Amino acid sequence: MYKDKRVSVVGLGVSGFAAACLLKDMGAKVRVTESAVTKAILERKIFLERKGIKVEIEGHTEGFIKDSQLFVASPGVGSASLPLRFAKRNKIPVIGEVELAYTVCSGEIIAVSGTNGKTTVVSLLGEIFKKAGKRVIVCGNIGHPFSAAVRKYKKCSFFILEVSSFQLERIKNFHPKIAILLNVSPDHLDWHQSFSSYKRAKSRLFLNQKVNDDAILNQDDDYISSFLPKIKAKKFFFSYKKVLKKGVFVKSDWIVSDLSGKQERIFNLERAVLPGQHNCENYLAAAAAALIVGISPEAIGGVFKEFSPLPHRTEFVRRLKGVNYIDDSKATNLDATKAALQTFPAGKIILILGGRDKGCSFHRLSAPVKKRVKQIILLGEAARRIEEELSRCRVPMRKVSSLKEAVRMAKASGERGDFVLLSPACSSFDMFADYRERGNVFKRAVQNLS
Ligand code: ADP
Repeated sequence: MYKDKRVSVVGLGVSGFAAACLLKDMGAKVRVTESAVTKAILERKIFLERKGIKVEIEGHTEGFIKDSQLFVASPGVGSASLPLRFAKRNKIPVIGEVELAYTVCSGEIIAVSGTNGKTTVVSLLGEIFKKAGKRVIVCGNIGHPFSAAVRKYKKCSFFILEVSSFQLERIKNFHPKIAILLNVSPDHLDWHQSFSSYKRAKSRLFLNQKVNDDAILNQDDDYISSFLPKIKAKKFFFSYKKVLKKGVFVKSDWIVSDLSGKQERIFNLERAVLPGQHNCENYLAAAAAALIVGISPEAIGGVFKEFSPLPHRTEFVRRLKGVNYIDDSKATNLDATKAALQTFPAGKIILILGGRDKGCSFHRLSAPVKKRVKQIILLGEAARRIEEELSRCRVPMRKVSSLKEAVRMAKASGERGDFVLLSPACSSFDMFADYRERGNVFKRAVQNLS
């Protein structure tokens, strides 16, 4: 299919790199074009050139890509970039890295998307499938590109794939056997321009599913109804709030399933390790997918009672003089922060908020902030807009210029029983390489407190 085809990969991040290696394996004439330069990009360039792949970095040129028959775009590459404009002008097909890997994937795909909870759910599913003895690999947006996974694990039965809205925009025939949409709320509006175009991208998850496939959906989600008419697959709901006639739900503190007119208890939530209602929704979604595949409630419950929060997701860091410190650096949008605010006790939260502004309205945080937060410490580019938009909450707000200063300030005002919560509702790119670096700086500052 790709043998001798002239394919240009746009972007040399981890997924562009994996796509280039996969294409090379399949005999394509690959070249890679990248607009930036970093140490990691240089290292990848050297590696690919040793394999005989041509690479240009620090900018795209038409001369380099002009004889391409196909473009494979990395998720972060915008349609205004030179290669994609060139492709459009010359009617050359463009696919994403997920679509590329899909065309050579021989296992069954369970795809997980949604605004929040994707990484937690794919990780839960990976553990459950392993416990049930399945040959499984977790991949995609989680940091292990789908292209790398299909290349290395050719005989895997299940590919549990985290897919973002960026990746879904560039699929064509991508077809998951089971598709899970966890939730949808405004995010990445700096990229998608409007909430409706963000929702449109998310709905592509179900685009190629057929009547024998399964779609797992959150009954409690505000926007779910707008997705339903176009879904051809069997719909399967989960709910935290309601007992469902058919689906997976919570009843008297138990996760219960009802797939065929008979209720079955799966897991007692008193034994849950992951905190908060949002994580209970993650359990429900993971349980639904596992049950559809025929995995036993014992295997599912066995994983739920052991699985701890992943780093930077409402992760407990330390208790010092009765004050708890929580790293939720991965909360890069309003709904993730809202979920964290519901998780810790009302009136006891000192919230560290702010970072790069993604164009969403912080007014949406007003109600939980007013009800639950005792102090806000503001940081980063969005600080001024947050201050304006939350001013009516009448919660004390202080601005700081570094995360270390935020931690020192939180310590000075924290009282026994309080929760100092880094849950920024913004991305980290104004001050840090990514959310991991932000979380690690926070954790170090907390560990260094005396
Ligand atoms: P994603 O991969 O979609 O970014 P993660 O599992 O990495 O999801 O979690 C990202 C952030 O969202 C964290 O702050 C986490 O606490 C929060 N979160 C996790 N699951 C949910 C959910 N179901 N609803 C809302 N927020 C969630």
